[in-house]
Amino acid sequence: MHVIDLRSDTVTRPTTAMRAAMLEADVGDDVYGEDPTVNALQQRLADELGFDAGLFVPSGTQSNLLALLAHCERGDEYLVGMDAHTYKFEGGGAAVLGSIQPQPIVQAADGTLPLQSIEAAIKPLDPHFARTRLLALENTWHGRTLPLDYLTAAHDVAHAHGLGLHLDGARLYNAAVACGVPAREIARHFDTVSICLSKGLGAPVGSVLVGSHGLIDKARRWRKVAGGGWRQAGILAAAGRYALDHHVARLADDHHRAEYLAGRLREIAGIDLLGQYTNMVFIDVPAERLRDLDVHLREAGIRISIGYLPTLRLVTHLDIGDDDIERTVQAFAAFFGRG
Ligand SMILES: *Cc1c(COP(=O)(O)O)cnc(C)c1O
Repeated sequence: MHVIDLRSDTVTRPTTAMRAAMLEADVGDDVYGEDPTVNALQQRLADELGFDAGLFVPSGTQSNLLALLAHCERGDEYLVGMDAHTYKFEGGGAAVLGSIQPQPIVQAADGTLPLQSIEAAIKPLDPHFARTRLLALENTWHGRTLPLDYLTAAHDVAHAHGLGLHLDGARLYNAAVACGVPAREIARHFDTVSICLSKGLGAPVGSVLVGSHGLIDKARRWRKVAGGGWRQAGILAAAGRYALDHHVARLADDHHRAEYLAGRLREIAGIDLLGQYTNMVFIDVPAERLRDLDVHLREAGIRISIGYLPTLRLVTHLDIGDDDIERTVQAFAAFFGRG
């Protein structure tokens, strides 16, 4: 039985056509800057998003870390959402490895950091305080797209205070497709943007950080320091290029399937549907039933992730088709139907 994995959009397997592109990739030593496929991927994303340069890295976590290290020096701080990946889910890397202090800010339910909170958190230039240097946002955030006018307003506040702006755009293309705008329309508000190729875009590995020549040169130096200077990485970059060519517009299918799944789950008595945003569906299941639900779904060949977020998150992606949604609905209905 084909396993339906709804834990995350990171679980996708490269398609046959993507594997063919990887097999045929022209490669070289990327530490020497000589991998043509890596160079093409980096330049392609930089051009598409309106930046000078890009840097291909193994993970989104490293990409965000390199951005923070490029923007901030030891003793600087960045303003970041309390539930943002770059604060909460990256092992405290900026503080551990960069001596950069996070200033977490309580987010509104839509993922935005209230502008008054941002302004209130910016510290005066005084030896008592860390130097506030950067505002880091995330889009999508738990599937939610940040409103475009909020991005403009956040940009204006940051610039009025001389702060840089970084976007954790792990799912930037989900946001662009959902908002019906080119990704550049979101990216243009920021100084650096990190994009994951390994999530909904379906590549096996990799993220790209884009920014100015100055910031990307700094990030490249830190990538080497972090042990991320890789060699014939063009094999992986080829998958990323393939994903950008073929898997962007289809993100709308993932969003539609998530919406449909949410609609069907909402009809099942006993399921508290909290919301659906882009490719994610959130439901509240009483804690005491979660383990039984997991066992029931595993028997039906369905994987969910429990215990990591307070609510249950179901994620649609490249390897989830209409039949899988149907099977998922049936399995949930059977579990909650038996009370
Ligand atoms: C997945 C993710 C990352 C980190 O990517 P990894 O490749 O897993 O390190 C960063 N930010 C957000 C919002 C993510 O969803």
